[in-house]
Amino acid sequence: MRAMILEKPGMPLQFLEAPDPIPGEGEVLVKISACGVCRTDLHVVDGELPDPKLPIIPGHEIVGTVTGLGVNVDNFKLGERIGIPWLGRTCGSCSYCQSGAENLCDDPGFTGYQIDGGYADVTVADARFCFPVSADYSDSELAPLLCAGLIGYRSLSMVDNDSGRIGIYGFGAAAHIVTQLARHQDREVYAFTRPGDRAAQEFALEMGATWVGDSDREPPDELDAAIIFAPVGSLIPAALKAVRKGGVVICGGIHMSDIPSFAYKILWGERVLRSVANLTRQDARDFLELAPKVPIRTRIEEFALEDANLALEALRAGNLTGAAVLIP
Ligand SMILES: [Zn+2]
Ligand SMILES: [Zn+2]
Repeated sequence: MRAMILEKPGMPLQFLEAPDPIPGEGEVLVKISACGVCRTDLHVVDGELPDPKLPIIPGHEIVGTVTGLGVNVDNFKLGERIGIPWLGRTCGSCSYCQSGAENLCDDPGFTGYQIDGGYADVTVADARFCFPVSADYSDSELAPLLCAGLIGYRSLSMVDNDSGRIGIYGFGAAAHIVTQLARHQDREVYAFTRPGDRAAQEFALEMGATWVGDSDREPPDELDAAIIFAPVGSLIPAALKAVRKGGVVICGGIHMSDIPSFAYKILWGERVLRSVANLTRQDARDFLELAPKVPIRTRIEEFALEDANLALEALRAGNLTGAAVLIP
């Protein structure tokens, strides 16, 4: 196999050639055709998330074809195209797993963090955490649905149905998908970008946003809810100020810079601040079934697997329109 591997946080990924992995019990062997680049990968590479497996192959938006089956796999066939997401395994027995909240499992394993992921041409994965994927999408178009899409979907599901005016802070891969979903539900999207990022603002308008502006500006209308995808803690007070009484502010990212202190009065009025963590398999099934019906279209920028470091730098610099996807 060929892979881009992280030996140590803070270092560039290294190209590695190694023997192909062998699928164990309950695992599928997958020939990867595309893997999306997610901001979480940057947090892993930069050492902002605790205790990654090292060395680790990042990547958790994997699309590929099943080329081998371990024993006791009965949900996929050889040759089937599947998706492999962030949630790679759960314990199945903790109180969260038992109560339908496996996204909060006490002993989970995440793809590209504790389990080798998709910055490679081959991988193995626990078949119970893989999904069939729609034939309506190419491999590259599908990849961003597997995390950016899923976390956007889960974030939007935390907003009640009467909330018609949604603010979105940070307009990248997740935002461009959730905007299409929000428009499909007849909501208006107010998109906030890095100050002066005209390209992202044009992109947001193209995806159906009603209003676009710099994240240090206040919107012209009061928002019912806001979703923050940018990893910038100072956006939390900004978003709380922008939402109405009883409105919710949802943090969709796994890591943020520290939140500056703020006056209690911007939370007062029964405003709610919450995060969204990971995904459940039910989220994945529901969203992957819904996406082609909307239909959600993803904007992608392809990079060769060996150029993974360039893709990560482009994401860090805010130079992508849509989602980066690695092609092995
Ligand atoms: Zn558990
Ligand atoms: Zn992700």
